[in-house]
Amino acid sequence: MEVECPRCRKRAPDDAGNPFRPFCSQRCRLLDLGAWIDEDYRVPGAPEAESEETPPSDRDDPSA
Ligand SMILES: [Zn+2]
Repeated sequence: MEVECPRCRKRAPDDAGNPFRPFCSQRCRLLDLGAWIDEDYRVPGAPEAESEETPPSDRDDPSA
């Protein structure tokens, strides 16, 4: 099974043999991560939820 690399559109294996999936390589994965950090990347169709922080229901503090 294969998946299209979100970064370079190259076909990449989508299985346990590809630790970088859905990306084709570590390079594409890091590039994508960098785009996220730069806030220059948006998930298509993502709901608008920038007005609120992470919901408290999703918290799981192990030190508590
Ligand atoms: Zn790629």
